[in-house]
Amino acid sequence: MALKAETMLPATRAGRVYLVGAGPGDPELLTLRAVRLLQQADVIVYDHLVCAGALDFARAGAQRIYAGKRRNEHTLRQEQINALLVKLANEGKQVVRLKGGDPFIFGRGGEELQELAAQGVAFEVVPGVTAASGVASYAGIPLTHRDLAHSCLFVTGHLKDGSANLDWSAMVRLRQTVVVYMGLGGLPEICRQMMAHGAAAQLPIAVVQNGSIATQRVVTGTLADMPERVASAGLESPCLTIIGDVVSLHESLAWFRAPPTATPAS
Ligand code: SAH
Repeated sequence: MALKAETMLPATRAGRVYLVGAGPGDPELLTLRAVRLLQQADVIVYDHLVCAGALDFARAGAQRIYAGKRRNEHTLRQEQINALLVKLANEGKQVVRLKGGDPFIFGRGGEELQELAAQGVAFEVVPGVTAASGVASYAGIPLTHRDLAHSCLFVTGHLKDGSANLDWSAMVRLRQTVVVYMGLGGLPEICRQMMAHGAAAQLPIAVVQNGSIATQRVVTGTLADMPERVASAGLESPCLTIIGDVVSLHESLAWFRAPPTATPAS
């Protein structure tokens, strides 16, 4: 895709960091601004969850730096990433810091910007389609619905010291959808605690693996049987969990089929 570039970057060659969201996986979900910036950047510092298709938009001569951040496998520590961004910008580079989904939702984007601000580095933020919205759309699960859910809660199920430290009473409110990021390891604990705090054992729940890309899989069940279903399905990261009555709509609204020519990502 060729997009006009002139209006995007300042005339001076002062370094600048663009914190850019890459969406959940399907490169078609990149914003126009993300694509424009990718086409002009000197350097792209990208995370594990950034789809390869997004990097295809990068300028041929752009330097690409993998910053990692898979669970338990941090290629660069957060402080090293922060320092790298400051260094590159101080060299006068136009840096795209590319993150999966939206950089301000469970992406540690705020922390990176705090460091840039403290060091006087100019920056901009480009929002992206967050996993909750992108993955739910491709799974045919509306996050709100007039009859079924009037609010939606985003939480992280990342386990700290072996337990998900969540506000369980807030999680079990009626007519609410709960979206759990990073939650596969904590799923049994989340189902157990929600039932213990009054949620119906039959409350529908879905786990979506690789949402919006060819290898997407959706497993549905209830709070009572989901840990077992997920274990026997052998799902792998990244997975997003959606809990609430809206999940029942998946059966009739699922629309996304992998294109027949697509080859599964390795
Ligand atoms: N900033 C990102 C979230 C980073 S946390 C965003 O706004 O989407 C990473 C978590 O996001 C993963 O553990 C998983 O729960 C979720 N996730 C991201 N992409 C996903 C995808 N394509 N399919 C399923 N879950 C995804």
